[in-house]
Amino acid sequence: MTQVYNFGAGPAMLPAEVMQKAQREFLDYQGMGTGLIEISHRSPEFEAVLNRCDELLIELANIPSNYKILYVHGGAQMQFSAVPLNLLGRSPSKSASYIETGTWGVKARKEAARFGNATTAASSADSGFDRIPAFDPASLPADTAYLHITSNNTLYGTRWHSFPQTGDVPLVADMTSEFLSRELDISQFGVIFAGLQKNLGPAGLAVVIIREDLLGHALEQTPALLDYSVYAGSHSLSNTNNTFAIYMMGLVLEWVKEQGGVATLEAQNEAKAQLLYDVIDASEFYLGVADPAHRSIMNVTFNLAKPELLDAFVNQALEHGLYALKGHRDVGGARASIYNAMPVAGCEALAAFMRDFERDNA
Ligand SMILES: *Cc1c(COP(=O)(O)O)cnc(C)c1O
Repeated sequence: MTQVYNFGAGPAMLPAEVMQKAQREFLDYQGMGTGLIEISHRSPEFEAVLNRCDELLIELANIPSNYKILYVHGGAQMQFSAVPLNLLGRSPSKSASYIETGTWGVKARKEAARFGNATTAASSADSGFDRIPAFDPASLPADTAYLHITSNNTLYGTRWHSFPQTGDVPLVADMTSEFLSRELDISQFGVIFAGLQKNLGPAGLAVVIIREDLLGHALEQTPALLDYSVYAGSHSLSNTNNTFAIYMMGLVLEWVKEQGGVATLEAQNEAKAQLLYDVIDASEFYLGVADPAHRSIMNVTFNLAKPELLDAFVNQALEHGLYALKGHRDVGGARASIYNAMPVAGCEALAAFMRDFERDNA
């Protein structure tokens, strides 16, 4: 097999060791003579996998004991519906505030508007979402059920470097494209959710971390399988959950622990991103999309000063084993998604290719 570095935004590459372990265990899980995905979600073997995921998440993300971990169907965007359905009931006027730092935040607000009043507290749309906008938490109305942010903006390559202090208003963060890539103080958040397919495993499921006192406020029309209390009360097994995705996430979490945990990966992620930003900053051929003060360490976005060369850039990169560098269709340009599983060598290879391509085409 030829070595390929996959810079796709998601579903994204998983650690090679994880894929190999899943392959080894696929037909015969721990000597049972059957695969794990062929047995009951209520079997002791699967229960052990689920318990181990809880244990590792608590340890790796440093989750305090007054938070619940839920494994919720439908990926990240299903939480755009679940969050308002579960939390708007905390506010007499069913009001929530959204900070729009890209497409995902806009979509989340529009979804919440189906169930209550969803207002935009701040937006960086005017500058093409190239930054995190200024925001004063004191401007939030008193009966705000929650404030929603997107902590890392996958399409534009920006992130919140520090988070707004919202006092009694719970902070809800869509961390799909950066969960477990940086150390966090979980107690700053009311709800964190992350679709698995960027940093944690296969698509279709989300991890939700919710402060216990925020459970039990679901609007009456909330479908059972979107009600966080139903998940909390059944260890996320009210119906047949996605056992394969949970198993794969467990393997990824073991891998994160083996790497030395989140602090080690964060330092490595900073260094990986810097390799690419150094090329961009030293060049007039590559133009960074994100304001340098708000840059992501998960998604590095750039344009070419000669945009007509973009296809050649992407195609020649592919010939060098550098896969999926085309930017999102809404943003254009190029994007390198460099989640936890991307080795340093992948970023080194891309940085070298970018320098060579500039030399040959400037
Ligand atoms: C990828 C992504 C999503 C969409 O995830 P789905 O699982 O496809 O719904 C939402 N938010 C962010 C920040 C993302 O990066």
